[in-house]
Amino acid sequence: MSGQPPQQRIAIVTGAARGIGAAIALRLAQDGHAIALLDLRAADCAETAGLVEQAGRRALAVDCDVSDEEMVKAAIDEVASRLGPPTVLVNNAGVLKDRTLSNMTLDDWNLVVDVNLKSVFLTCRAVAPLMREARWGRIVNLSSIAALGVFGETNYSAAKAGVQGLTKTLAIELGAYGVTANVVAPGFVVTEMTRGVAASAGMTMDELSQLMLRDIVVGRTGEPDDIAQAVAFFADPRSSFVTGQVLYVAGGPRT
Ligand code: NAD
Repeated sequence: MSGQPPQQRIAIVTGAARGIGAAIALRLAQDGHAIALLDLRAADCAETAGLVEQAGRRALAVDCDVSDEEMVKAAIDEVASRLGPPTVLVNNAGVLKDRTLSNMTLDDWNLVVDVNLKSVFLTCRAVAPLMREARWGRIVNLSSIAALGVFGETNYSAAKAGVQGLTKTLAIELGAYGVTANVVAPGFVVTEMTRGVAASAGMTMDELSQLMLRDIVVGRTGEPDDIAQAVAFFADPRSSFVTGQVLYVAGGPRT
């Protein structure tokens, strides 16, 4: 059985320097959380931290490569001692390294699987004991429509599908402790990540967006706030009966 929602709400958001992670951090701050911003370079989180503080909440930026076991342990310890035990964990950090299978190197594979999937194992393993002890917690992991298959993304789609399986198992293991674990799987969202996709395909962002819009029934591309809205739902104390779910936030029922 779960305990009462904690009075102090503290959220960790990985990859919070920019894009979807920055929008999630700000939204969770507006919803009443102090925010730990984890990214490769804490200095890159300064703008997001400023917005969190303008929303009236504490912000702590921590240097952390989320694929590095020791850095993850140290970062979670620092958050717990400086802000308090995390009540929400959002695994948002991610990278792409697209190549067709025959051109994909083991380094391309390892980088993408380590940052998108191993990181989720490492952060969840570090945070779970604290949430179990509090008998309360919310874990939200970012997957992607790419989990369903995308040309040139064997590494990324395997990692993002893995996030779904990991999260469903986590939901089963942690449910009795009042900890939920869910997945948000975005469709096409305009960020630096997708700007990089456009550039490597030799397209402008407008050209790529027009191409993607063919499959987006609501007739617009996604914004980081669209994803933050879904994360906020799963992080809400009132969402305690929702666990092990995958919510595609993609402007339509199919990719
Ligand atoms: P982004 O590239 O704009 O931002 C990613 C952030 O993660 C950056 O701040 C980066 O520094 C950080 N990061 C990268 N590697 C890291 C590491 N090893 N340790 C710590 N931080 C690291 O990407 P985004 O578009 O905002 O994507 C956010 C998440 O949403 C990712 O998991 C991505 O796979 C997923 N996603 C994005 C889209 C999209 O269309 N943008 C679609 C589906 C899923």
